[in-house]
Amino acid sequence: MSDCIFCKIVAGIIPSKKLYEDEELIAFHDIHPIAPVHFLLVPKLHVASLADCDVSHQALLAKMLLLAPKLAQEQGLDKGFRTMINTGSGGGQEVFHLHFHVFGGGATIPKT
Ligand code: AMP
Ligand code: ZN
Repeated sequence: MSDCIFCKIVAGIIPSKKLYEDEELIAFHDIHPIAPVHFLLVPKLHVASLADCDVSHQALLAKMLLLAPKLAQEQGLDKGFRTMINTGSGGGQEVFHLHFHVFGGGATIPKT
């Protein structure tokens, strides 16, 4: 088992507040939410970041993008939500296993 924290969550070694799972993806609530609803959409396959994806990940990435609004709706984000993908240390990425942040709720999130 690698040292990757999200691989450990996928394997059930580290607990998470899961809101979705299928054979390829998992979604769980962020441990340090920055909005009333804040969850992470994560492929079970270990890919370090968006910059490490290639055409072989195309279907997976499309599936993640299409799932995000469905899960956001289920979490009550009927007015909309924000998606964020931090890539690399220069992009503020801290966990080097690809993930989409989805968050919203409460007041409208400012643009900056
Ligand atoms: P990033 O900066 O995009 O790599 O964000 C990593 C995110 O993972 C942060 O928002 C953390 O709060 C979140 N995080 C780290 N460890 C856990 C965990 N065990 N369960 C849920 N979220 C986590
Ligand atoms: Zn991983």
